[in-house]
Amino acid sequence: MNEFRDEITLLKALAHPARLAILEALRGGEACVCHLEALFGWRQAYLSQQLMALREASLVADRREGWNVYYRVIRPEIFAVLDALYQAVPERKGEPLPAVVPNCPCPRCQEKADCCG
Ligand SMILES: [Zn+2]
Repeated sequence: MNEFRDEITLLKALAHPARLAILEALRGGEACVCHLEALFGWRQAYLSQQLMALREASLVADRREGWNVYYRVIRPEIFAVLDALYQAVPERKGEPLPAVVPNCPCPRCQEKADCCG
């Protein structure tokens, strides 16, 4: 039963609550690791572990800019898979993620805090 090997690899990468949450956080574009840390309140080691699993599945890629490391989804078709998954789970209560996280040190949140806060 080797024919589904790649599909199983992908499903295993998705089959974790933290990794689904990260993909949702990256749906609107790339995000700094520090933003994901502030958004979810996870320890950095835990976050890194989940990001590595997504990277090994070729779902995300990282980019360094100064002190910050940014992650982005490199296979956007994965969102169609996730949307189909959510439709198959109609009881799911999805809360929209905040665009700006209070006390987040990432440039995007800082910029919005400076202009609007
Ligand atoms: Zn932020």
